[in-house]
Amino acid sequence: MVRLQTLQTPKIKRNAKEREALYSQVIEMMAIPGGSGQEAGIAEYIRSSLLAAGAEAAAIRFDSAHRRTRIKGEVGNLIYRMSGTLPRAGTTGVSAAHRMLSAHMDTVPICVGSRPQRKGQKVTSLDSHTGLGADNRAGCGVILSTAIELLKQGLPHPPLTFVWFVQEEVGLQGSRFATTSLFGKPRVAFNWDGGQPAKMTIGATGGYRMVIDVSGIAAHAGVCPERGVSAIAIAAVAIADLQANGWHGSICKGKRRGTSNVGVIRGGEATNVVTDQVFVRVEARSHNRPFRERIVQEIEKAFKRAVKQVKNEQGQIGTVSIKGHLDYESFCLKPTEPCVKIAESVICAQGATPISAIADGGVDANWITEHGIPTVSLGCGQANVHMVTESLDLAQYLLACNIGLSIAQGFGA
Ligand SMILES: [Zn+2]
Repeated sequence: MVRLQTLQTPKIKRNAKEREALYSQVIEMMAIPGGSGQEAGIAEYIRSSLLAAGAEAAAIRFDSAHRRTRIKGEVGNLIYRMSGTLPRAGTTGVSAAHRMLSAHMDTVPICVGSRPQRKGQKVTSLDSHTGLGADNRAGCGVILSTAIELLKQGLPHPPLTFVWFVQEEVGLQGSRFATTSLFGKPRVAFNWDGGQPAKMTIGATGGYRMVIDVSGIAAHAGVCPERGVSAIAIAAVAIADLQANGWHGSICKGKRRGTSNVGVIRGGEATNVVTDQVFVRVEARSHNRPFRERIVQEIEKAFKRAVKQVKNEQGQIGTVSIKGHLDYESFCLKPTEPCVKIAESVICAQGATPISAIADGGVDANWITEHGIPTVSLGCGQANVHMVTESLDLAQYLLACNIGLSIAQGFGA
């Protein structure tokens, strides 16, 4: 007979020596230079730390994301898989389902050359002109220390995939182009990035960018302007149309919300020529996918209508070519989604109060969720990220490590 055992998520306790080891590890990682595309150094640090803790070399892989990203990177995403050691059933409160833990390795350029200095429980950069790089070496530290702890202590755990992504700071490129077959089949994912450990980001906006080329017909502006078709006039008519009909800036149609912005407009060389080329760049965002698609359609329609309205004396019109691409898809997890429930319960068990949030920018979780693995993002105690005043609160970092270790052991189910 299988005896069912009810297991409450234990509060993780670490002695002073163990805490110091966590802190010195993250401080070492913050000092390793590694902007986007230059992650070889930090990846090697992580790989050798895993090997030193007893990881099998064959279980550590790099994918080839860096060959598909916009900038050519040194390495791809670093993936480490551990087979599960938990019994499939028999214990409630623990799940034997496959979990994924992730964080990005790159830092913003201002953090390259960081010299971390610790004062009590706070770490900042020694130089006033560099940021710390806790975004996101603290995230890397949370999941690395978790893997090491499992290996060294032989703690039981479900099947796990650890992923250290490249090129997050340049538009979520590593997570976007990840070779997801190397992840195995995790059902839930937890991603550590900037912010507070108890803050669960369960959704984020989606973004779409468009490049619009407007072509008209050039003519002498003084001698025969009636023979020209002004590309500037076409673009102006289109933008005025969007503005007048509420499709530019903050967009609110009934209950649906979004934004759009004509951010770049370039064209023309001289006042004595009817301008025949204008280049426009526009973006559209919404937490609601169909509504973002609608905003994009309205922008396209406005430019197509404008083209027909601007004619020369022979009735000729210009042309418009529109190219767009999705930067990242929006997502919003339900509070009942398993990864949200797990994060919530583990955060409580580690003595903190969970808070849910929705991000107005993209995060790696946009792409991981889009790849089919619902993802909650958690912070590690970083503040003022992307600034020279960036800091890491070590008490908060410890809490993030405890949350990570607890999740990796299958707790919170
Ligand atoms: Zn980050």
